[in-house]
Amino acid sequence: MTTAIVWFRRDLRLADNPALVAAVEGHDRVIPLYVHAPDEEGEWAPGAASRWWLHHSLAALDKGLRRHRGALQIVIARKRANTGGGGTLGALREAIKATGATAVYFNLLYDPAIRKRDAQVRKALEADGIDVASFNANLWCDPWEIATKEDEPYRVFTPFWRNLRTRIDAQGPLEEPSPLRLEALATSAALDDLALLPTLDWAKGFDEWTPGEEGAHDMLSLFADDAVGHYTSGRDLPARHGTSRLSPHLHFGEISPRQVAERLRAHFARRKNVPDLEPYLRQLGWREFGHHLLWHFPDTPKKNFNTKFDAFRWEKRDAHALRRWKQGKTGIPIVDAGMRELWATGWMHNRVRMLVASLLTKNLRQHWLLGEKWFWDTLVDADLANNAMGWQWVAGSGADAAPYFRIFNPVTQSEKFDPDGAYIRRWVPELRDAPGRLVHAPWEDEKYLKASGYPPPIVDLKASREDALLAYQHSKSV
Ligand code: FAD
Repeated sequence: MTTAIVWFRRDLRLADNPALVAAVEGHDRVIPLYVHAPDEEGEWAPGAASRWWLHHSLAALDKGLRRHRGALQIVIARKRANTGGGGTLGALREAIKATGATAVYFNLLYDPAIRKRDAQVRKALEADGIDVASFNANLWCDPWEIATKEDEPYRVFTPFWRNLRTRIDAQGPLEEPSPLRLEALATSAALDDLALLPTLDWAKGFDEWTPGEEGAHDMLSLFADDAVGHYTSGRDLPARHGTSRLSPHLHFGEISPRQVAERLRAHFARRKNVPDLEPYLRQLGWREFGHHLLWHFPDTPKKNFNTKFDAFRWEKRDAHALRRWKQGKTGIPIVDAGMRELWATGWMHNRVRMLVASLLTKNLRQHWLLGEKWFWDTLVDADLANNAMGWQWVAGSGADAAPYFRIFNPVTQSEKFDPDGAYIRRWVPELRDAPGRLVHAPWEDEKYLKASGYPPPIVDLKASREDALLAYQHSKSV
C-alpha cells in the first residue's frame, strides 16, 4: 500500500486539481496537507486581506474534504534554522517520516520566492528518495510554453494573446476524483492556530464574499446568468456588477481558467443568442500575461520593467498625501470612492484601480511601489503578477504599458463611467445628495463643498498634470 502527500498551496479546490488527481490515481492513500510558512514568501508574504481570504478558503477546503470522510491536515512550519531543518522542507520530511509516504504532489506557483523555495524542497526530497511531481493547475499555459518566433518571452500583450488563444479551447477541466481515500497525520494544527484573521474589526464588509470552491462556482453562475452578456458595455461601469468578481477565487486557485471557460461555453451551448465570450476570455489572457512577465522578469514587482524609467524623478515620499489617498480623503470623488470600496470590501473595480493609481503616480508623483504595497495589504485578490503589472501599466514603466503622457482626468473619467454618480454616492456619503455635476467635482461650488463636509482636492489636477509631463520630458532627456 502506498501513501502520497498532496501539498495544497494556492490550488484550494478538489475539482480540476491535477496534483490531487495524479496522487489519487497513483497511490492507495492521500494526505491533504497545508504547510503554513509565510516567511518563505519574503516581503510578499500574504497581506492582511489575503490572510482573511486564506483563512476562509482553507476552512472551505476542509469542509470539502470532510465530504470524503477526511480533513485538511495543517502544519505550521518551524522557522528554518541555519543548520537546515524546519521550514516547509522540515514539515514535509516530518510528515513523510510519520506516515511512510513515498511521494509528494503539488501544483506550481510562479512567484519568485516560492519558485526558489519549491526548487530547494524538490531537490532535497528527491535526494531523500521521495517521488516529487508538480503540475500546472492555475494557468492555461505554463509561462515557458509560449514564446515569440525568435524564442523570446513576449513583452506585448496582443501577440501573446493571439498565441495563447490558439491553445485554450481544447483544454477541458478534470473531474473531482472520487473516492479520495484520505489519511490523516497523528496531529494537525487547528486553522485558528494560524492567526490569519485580523485583530482589528476591519473586515466586516468582506462578508459579501464566499471564499472557497463552492463560492467561486456560485460567483461564476451569477456572472454567466447575468453580466457576461453585457460584459463589453458593463465592464467599465463601477456602479454595476458588470464583471465576474472572480479575481480572489482565481488567485487562491479555487477555480481555474479552464473551468471558467468550459462553464461559460456549456452555459450557452444550447442557447440561440450566445454572447461574445472573447472580450472576457481576453481579460483572463491579461492574467496569463502577468504571470508570463513575472516568470521571465522576476524583478517586475520591485523594478521598472522599462529601465528608461529609472531616470524618472518621483516626488519625495509624501506621508500626508499618501495617508489621504489610503483613507479615501483626497477630495477627488471617484478616487475616494474607490479607496473606500477597497477598505470596506477588499476589492476595487478595475477602472477605478486605474484612476486611483494614476492619481498617486502621476498627479501626486509618488512611486508606484507605494501603491503596489498598499494594494498588496488590502486587496483580497492581491496577486504578485497582476498587481505588479497593473501598477507598472498605469505608471507607464511596464511592459506594453499606457504611455506616460496619457494621464487620466478623474473628473472626465467619472462623468463617463459613473454618469449619475451612483458609485460615488454609494461610497462617499458626504456627496450622497450632490446635485448634478458637483458629484464629480464638488469644488466647483465652494459653498456646497463647505456644507457637504467633503474635503477640498489634495492637488490641483491641471497643474499637477503639467508638472508630471514636464518631469517625464526631463527624464527622457537624461
Ligand atoms: P473580470 O473583468 O471579470 O476579469 C476576469 C479575470 O481576468 C479577473 O478575475 C482577473 O483574474 C483577470 N483580469 C481582468 N483584468 C485584468 C488585468 N487588467 N490584469 C490582469 N488580470 C486581469 N488583479 C488581480 O487579480 N490582483 C491584483 O493584485 C491586481 N492589482 C491591480 C492593480 C492595478 C493598479 C490595476 C490597474 C489592476 C490590478 N488588477 C489586479 C487587475 C484587475 O483590476 C482585476 O483583475 C479585476 O478588477 C478583477 O475583477 P474581476 O474578477 O471582476 O475581473
